[in-house]
Amino acid sequence: MNIRLRLTLWYTAILFFILAIFSVAVYIGLTRSLLESIDTHLQREAGQVIGGIKFEGVDDHSEDEEHDKKSGEVEIEAEYIPEEGVFWRILDAEGQPIIDPGYFDGASFDSAPTKTDQVQVEYATLASGTAIRLYTVPFIFERQGAGIVQVAESYQHLQEVQRQLVFLLALGVPFTLLAASAGGWFLAANALAPIDRITRTAQQISADDLHQRLNLKLPNDEVGRLAATFDQMLARLEDAFERQKRFIADASHEMRTPLTILKGDVEVTLNRPRSAEVYRETLEMVNQTTDRLTALVEELFLLARADNNQYPLQLQDLNLAGLLTNEVANLMPQAIKKNVALNLDTPDVLPIKADPAKLARLFINLIDNAIKYSNSGDAVTITATIQNSHASVAHACVTIADTGPGIPHKHLPHIFDRFYRADKARSRNIENTSGSGAGLGLSIVQWLAQVHGGHIEVNSQVGQGTTFTVWLPLEAPSKK
Ligand code: ADP
Repeated sequence: MNIRLRLTLWYTAILFFILAIFSVAVYIGLTRSLLESIDTHLQREAGQVIGGIKFEGVDDHSEDEEHDKKSGEVEIEAEYIPEEGVFWRILDAEGQPIIDPGYFDGASFDSAPTKTDQVQVEYATLASGTAIRLYTVPFIFERQGAGIVQVAESYQHLQEVQRQLVFLLALGVPFTLLAASAGGWFLAANALAPIDRITRTAQQISADDLHQRLNLKLPNDEVGRLAATFDQMLARLEDAFERQKRFIADASHEMRTPLTILKGDVEVTLNRPRSAEVYRETLEMVNQTTDRLTALVEELFLLARADNNQYPLQLQDLNLAGLLTNEVANLMPQAIKKNVALNLDTPDVLPIKADPAKLARLFINLIDNAIKYSNSGDAVTITATIQNSHASVAHACVTIADTGPGIPHKHLPHIFDRFYRADKARSRNIENTSGSGAGLGLSIVQWLAQVHGGHIEVNSQVGQGTTFTVWLPLEAPSKK
């Protein structure tokens, strides 16, 4: 059963329930109120009958509206002008008529009026078949006598009103239900139409054409927001897919180039017998290329694991100054070989809670870059300080400043992107580096800083040099 039908059925069922309760309430309420007005009227009339009762010695008479009779020793008369449609009589305490205009002859009562010693209201039927509401009230006049007054009137008009009400409800309720369910069906269709459109469009979108959008111009309601969210999700998916595809394409490209060169060189060498010297050169070239490929595979592996959050931090208390001193010492031969001065300016102790292997990787990449892009005679200075003002949390601030060629302004926003190289040929051809030269080093550095809760900034002037500043909170976030 579809939602449209279900909504309509539910809506109709609830409405039916409400209408049924409403109808019963109206029926009961109206009946009660009419009955009350009849009873009040009868009570008033009975009061008037009792008020008009006079015993022996009363001398106000009138021809038509006066009735008198003997009851035992007591002479009783009643001055009462009945309203149109009101039946009445006066009985003695035993239930025998004293004054009886004759309305109740042959009437059948539910309970015997003689037994009553209290006010009683009941339904009865006259001999003529007229259904009546009968009001019986006892009276006592001190030392003069007691008796019972009965007044009644037909409640046919009440029955008539009830019949009409039932007729109207029996006609009106189904009609209202029909009209309401038709309206409900129409409204449900209207409300669900955009969802149908979303479904149809979504069915046409496959993984290959994620550029498609619903682009539904809907108001900003639940469905409108659903469509907009769907479009935003598609945009994010497309972006993620694109990045993934680019990453795979770039990675394959980065691997194919050195492999092609390797294959070519090896084939040329194997073409004909060569001297031991040539074989040695070729093997050295193979060795270097393999190193570079190994570094590339390792970087790719690291980024893949970083993307999947599979590279948790192994936090421990360490001395950042000591870590930097070690790395500078390790990279010193490389700097000396390039005739680049490598300076370190750090306090003796700089305590920090971090993952030592990851921090080492971060700073090796940066110092290695600074050396490899510098020219002979340039200088690389590493400075470490503690900054308390930054974002109100104490941070270690490490700058790696070189006096190298600098990075052109247009490249600066991209240098942390994967596979981005400001100068492709130069990156790949520089030897003796710890990275692959594939443009992954800085994106790894940025990720390592972020995973420690820190960040990295770059400043560069072409011809003057580049400065990378790494901010690391002294207490790295424990779960990353
Ligand atoms: P690569 O493997 O090419 O070194 P990186 O991600 O480490 O990749 O660096 C990205 C690019 O940023 C480099 O190709 C280079 O052009 C530029 N770059 C990085 N560090 C420096 C620096 N200290 N001086 C000049 N250019 C730099």
